[in-house]
Amino acid sequence: DEYVSKTFDLIKKKDSGIKAFITLRKEEEVLQEVKERRNQGGKLAGVLLAVKDNISTAGIRTTCASKMLEDYVPPYNATVINKVLKEGAVIIGKTNMDEFAMGSTTETSYFGPTRNPWDLERTPGGSSGGSAASIAAGYVSLALGSDTGGSIRAPASFNGAYGLKPSYGTVSRFGLVAYANSLEQIGPIAGNSEYLSMLFSIIAGEDPRDATTISYSAEDKPTVIPLKGLRVGVISNIMESSDKEIVSIFRNITNKMSDEGAVVEETELKNVELALPSYYVIAMSEASSNLARFDGVRYGFSKYNEGNWKETFSKNRGEGFGLEVKRRILLGSFILSAGYYDQYYIRALKARNLIKKNMDSLFSKYDVLISPTMPVLPPKIGEVIDDPVKMYAIDLNTVLANLTAIPAISLPVGFASRLPVGMQIMGRYLSDTFLLGISRFIEQLT
Ligand code: GLN
Repeated sequence: DEYVSKTFDLIKKKDSGIKAFITLRKEEEVLQEVKERRNQGGKLAGVLLAVKDNISTAGIRTTCASKMLEDYVPPYNATVINKVLKEGAVIIGKTNMDEFAMGSTTETSYFGPTRNPWDLERTPGGSSGGSAASIAAGYVSLALGSDTGGSIRAPASFNGAYGLKPSYGTVSRFGLVAYANSLEQIGPIAGNSEYLSMLFSIIAGEDPRDATTISYSAEDKPTVIPLKGLRVGVISNIMESSDKEIVSIFRNITNKMSDEGAVVEETELKNVELALPSYYVIAMSEASSNLARFDGVRYGFSKYNEGNWKETFSKNRGEGFGLEVKRRILLGSFILSAGYYDQYYIRALKARNLIKKNMDSLFSKYDVLISPTMPVLPPKIGEVIDDPVKMYAIDLNTVLANLTAIPAISLPVGFASRLPVGMQIMGRYLSDTFLLGISRFIEQLT
């Protein structure tokens, strides 16, 4: 079968340089399944799919790019996996990511960084870097990622791919290894907006195993939405921190949108300076609590089992987790501790509410809010990783959607210095299908 053999040949040729996969399945196995699933039928009958390595796959190792879970093989599938398998998809492998999805460049992976197929000196963004790189490299057209603060959109943008962070509650998180529950969603990354819509429609929907899900049925082929009369707000005060080259690509596309009849206006999001601090305080707090279960007794790396529990846990966690994960567990535990809880955590929640209120008021004037997805071009490997604050800062545009539960798409709109540039479109809560319809239209303009 050419489809499978060509894909594996390409991976053999290119992936030693890119390293999109942590676990690549055996070609014979994949071939066998492709044949079976084609006969079985479904919307994705025999289509190869790359899956981020924090989404549980029965019988396939799921590491979260951590030494802590290096040998972990889940006994069950995440709900999204059951859904794609039912439609005939075949998982080709598990993709590289930042350890436990903590990072923006796929450099915190225990297995080493993924490189950007457009320029191997650069990162593919993160944390779903392997998923987006596997699309840019031409291995697959569809991939699953997760987005807590931009982890689908950042890599989509840096790889010239399409990515959707769905409205909170539209996609089940059952089987997603939790990082920050109140912020994250699983979502699709794809080579074009039609595939993006298709994959989203398959994974969306209420799930009794995730009480935060709501009933939502997404169209698998949303109608193309022309821009005429669309009220578009450009958030000017988050644009100020974007590279000039990116702004100029962005201006090109907004001009084209105006030519198509969109009413494009500059607007300001108040209190935007609170977004990153509140995101990181909340994300780290939730992370410290979620990651408590990895102690080498209940779950995870367990080389040490001598001494008292404190010694055992500390040694296993000390060796099993990488630097960035430890930093967040420490900060998160500090933030949540008695005496500091009100000062940091509660204040972060208040800031989150304030941002939500301000976003709502913008959505009373605009149908969508747009900005560059990322304020910078893909960083070079090593450029931001040693400076966490610098790394956190590139998430400014993307964290807004996670803090406020709304949908956001990143779509490619051009190139600067031969590197892909993405535009982010945010919409009202549950306007996912609408955003996909708009993105199908804009795709034709670029
Ligand atoms: N870069 C952000 C963080 O490290 C977002 C990561 C994500 O969306 N998983 O928290």
